Amino acid sequence: MTAENRMDRMIRSVAHVFDWFGDGAYARHHLDPDIADFTFGNPQELPLPGLVSALQHHAVPQDKDWFAYKFSEPAPRAVVAASLQARTGIPFRDEDIALTAGAFGGLGVTIRALCDVDDEVIFLSPPWFFYELMIASSGATPVRVRLSGPDFALDHDAIAAAITPRTRAIIVNSPNNPTGRIYRPAELAALARLLEAASERHGRPITLLSDEAYNRIVFDGIEFESAAQHYGPTITIYTYGKTLLAPGQRVGYAALNPEFPDREAVNYKIFVQQLAAGWGFPNALLQHAMADLEALSVDIEALQRRRDRMVAALTEMGYEVTKPEGTFYLMVRAPDADDMAFTERLAEHGALVLPGAIVESPGWFRISLTASDAMVERGLEAFRAVLR
Ligand code: PMP
Repeated sequence: MTAENRMDRMIRSVAHVFDWFGDGAYARHHLDPDIADFTFGNPQELPLPGLVSALQHHAVPQDKDWFAYKFSEPAPRAVVAASLQARTGIPFRDEDIALTAGAFGGLGVTIRALCDVDDEVIFLSPPWFFYELMIASSGATPVRVRLSGPDFALDHDAIAAAITPRTRAIIVNSPNNPTGRIYRPAELAALARLLEAASERHGRPITLLSDEAYNRIVFDGIEFESAAQHYGPTITIYTYGKTLLAPGQRVGYAALNPEFPDREAVNYKIFVQQLAAGWGFPNALLQHAMADLEALSVDIEALQRRRDRMVAALTEMGYEVTKPEGTFYLMVRAPDADDMAFTERLAEHGALVLPGAIVESPGWFRISLTASDAMVERGLEAFRAVLR
């Protein structure tokens, strides 16, 4: 058997997403003026006023270099290191922060910096749409570990069984898209112990890529704890796109723990990958605005109220619904098991959702809570009508 060409492998990993995106209910209905659109974590209302004024303010140049080429600049790196230290208690160093084009950028450059064609990277399913793509783009082999619903807890035995001498990294996403789970300190500590043992056994450290895109979108007073607090060889990946609900403004970071093995060499590899990614650094304006961006957030209590409204109303209608601990997403079981067909029928009644098959969860569908309150009320009518 010949090895699959890298580009073909990459295309295969996203084909189901873009086939559906191009042909499914979303393509046909998302421009309908009355549609209730719960498909993606996209804003359905105007941006945060604080974000707009920060961008306006920092768009005014203060010196000739204001819009010069920017790498990961010292001032925004210091902002990130201080924020991470305040959140985790870990003394992050400024020079271990790579500023990236969101979490997409952070994942892409770190995976490509760490991995080569003989390596394997573990990801957990149901996953974010593009982990397989990112792993395949490095030439490494994606290795899937399935978690079981409805609680989707970390399955330590399954993870241990998936580790081989070729395992270079594992991606862990908490709060989790799409399951809404937040992994608790004891689960993270047990994961750290098993990764330490496997790294020791195979003679090289397994890197934990902690995808924390939603780490500030946490409900019910749960205290989020980072995997970085439990495992030294961790790279924390973050995007401001979720907290600001402005994912088209591309800024985030990848941060190495202070005790990350061989950190200077790894930082340099990430830097070279950022160049190779086609200048994978955030635009100057976003770097200037970083201290302001750090202080801003969408209204988390309003999101939680929207979650509660939807969970209660859908449950009352007879749907089986997850109650997310964080993130923007609810998972709902499709009443007739065929989530693709259900999604099409629901769209005819005026609501768009993401079929679970797109995120390796056939039989379920995903609702984004970034809809407006008015959309939620219209959407609930559609969820009721489709059952009749
Ligand atoms: N990781 C997860 C789990 C996500 O949900 C997303 C965005 N949907 C990303 C990474 C990428 O975030 P961004 O587009 O802001 O870079």
